[in-house]
Amino acid sequence: MSIKNIKINTVSLESYGINNARINYQLSPKQLHDISIEKGLGVEVSSGALAVNTGEFTGRSPKDRFIVKDSITKDLVWWGDINIPFKADKFDKLYNKVVDYLSDKEVFVRDCYACADPNYRLNLRVINEYPWSNQFAYNMFLRPEKEDLKRFKPEWIVINAPGFMANPDEDGTRQHNFAILNFTRKVALIGGTGYTGEIKKGIFSALNFILPVFKDTLPMHCSANVGKEGDTAIFFGLSGTGKTTLSTDANRSLIGDDEHGWTNDNNIFNFEGGCYAKVINLTREKEPEIYDAIKKGAILENVVLKPNAEVDFADTSITQNTRVSYPIHFIENIQVPSVGFNPKNIFFLTADAFGVIPPISKLTPSQAAYHFISGYTAKVAGTEAGVVEPQPSFSACFGAPFMPLHPAKYAEMLSKKMIEAKVNVWLVNTGWTGGPYGVGKRIELKYTRAMINAVLNGDLGLYNYDDYHIHSVFGVAQPRTCPGVPKSVLSPRQTWNDDNAYYTMAFKLTNAFRKNFKKFESHCNEEIRRGGPQRYAF
Ligand code: ATP
Ligand code: MN
Repeated sequence: MSIKNIKINTVSLESYGINNARINYQLSPKQLHDISIEKGLGVEVSSGALAVNTGEFTGRSPKDRFIVKDSITKDLVWWGDINIPFKADKFDKLYNKVVDYLSDKEVFVRDCYACADPNYRLNLRVINEYPWSNQFAYNMFLRPEKEDLKRFKPEWIVINAPGFMANPDEDGTRQHNFAILNFTRKVALIGGTGYTGEIKKGIFSALNFILPVFKDTLPMHCSANVGKEGDTAIFFGLSGTGKTTLSTDANRSLIGDDEHGWTNDNNIFNFEGGCYAKVINLTREKEPEIYDAIKKGAILENVVLKPNAEVDFADTSITQNTRVSYPIHFIENIQVPSVGFNPKNIFFLTADAFGVIPPISKLTPSQAAYHFISGYTAKVAGTEAGVVEPQPSFSACFGAPFMPLHPAKYAEMLSKKMIEAKVNVWLVNTGWTGGPYGVGKRIELKYTRAMINAVLNGDLGLYNYDDYHIHSVFGVAQPRTCPGVPKSVLSPRQTWNDDNAYYTMAFKLTNAFRKNFKKFESHCNEEIRRGGPQRYAF
């Protein structure tokens, strides 16, 4: 083996305090897949993908996400329940414990990066206790070329030790698991949880601070794709509202399914190199691109298998949040590199379980700003029979848990960019129709796709007064017709067959909007306040 080869095939971790570890550096996804199976940490499903269980946690744990309060963050971060401060000296002690824990162990190390636009590239070194977590990092982050690795200088380090349990009394955590960002040391420290989403959302949260503060670039919790004419569309929305599903469209090139930046050079770029799709009730018929991406190299999380090693996508006995991660090139139609020009259309996705928001409507700039700050979706009560009351859920910028700065900062940047780029903004209800959760049903994916296609093909311009109707409660412009969608589906009130019940529910929701907006009112001008619903119950 030449010296040159040795250099890129190994790496030292002693500068991080990890000593005598058996280091597996930059293994291929195939090697990691095989090692995971050999160690009994995963199984291969019939399509060739690896299936793993993430353990105690099958979702993120927002209450255990901390940011070290230091000279960089103290005056800039919007501290509170979302951005919970952590003391620097406590961090140092906990960090030392975690690296001690990893010392003498076998670890998996990967050099990779975030941000597809080279001007924003952030080099990462991910150090994992488990092989499949390292394969997740391969799938989700951008993959440097071999040549690139020789000169690779990691800037941020992710240390991921799911088997390390914190002692809250001693360590200053809330419980045994934690995900902590330290901007001075440039470390994301994750312990006590094997949920892989903490790794990707840790770096996302770091970028949501770094890009606006140091690079005057807007980070966004959205998916993006681009049409044949080079027209970019982006889709904001909270978890489960359809970012991944709707951006994965055979007729448009996928830029990314979850995290993007919007630069002052009129570009948007993906932070990631892969997708992380929900697989609950997945079918090939409805979502063929995602279904076919579940092959060797993909990692399924917390799914249940049938005896023939086929995945039972309907089985939610481990969690509703079953997932698959795969590198973006597992999708056939992708944009390479993952960069697009200024968006022409922006969709705000909401899964309205009250069933009152129109399935598609156009927003004015004021309404767009208002809805962005509100970040509405709904949570449906557990799946137990009889529990039918949906809960409104508001998350500023459609991603508050990942936004270290005050939401108004991101909203200001977005408003400015939307106006400059003359984008059209649409509110899309991918949630309930014909009544609330428990009475109505989720709107059919084929209709949502038809509405989005109509917008993207220019068939839903709403230029003439006769083309639309202003919703009496929400004030948004609701189209009267849309190719491929029955007229009756476009009006939520009509799908209910009970005007009284409809308006009662609509007012219940607008009251929740008003209550939520109170905490942002003082930061917002009259223009934005005017973008809210027009009518409330008193
Ligand atoms: P996350 O931020 O957690 O990744 P996401 O916004 O990417 O969430 P998706 O993974 O796209 O959400 O999940 C949307 C889910 O809703 C999918 O399981 C999809 O099959 C289902 N669904 C059902 N009806 C619709 C619809 N009309 N539009 C979009 N998705 C729908
Ligand atoms: Mn997604």
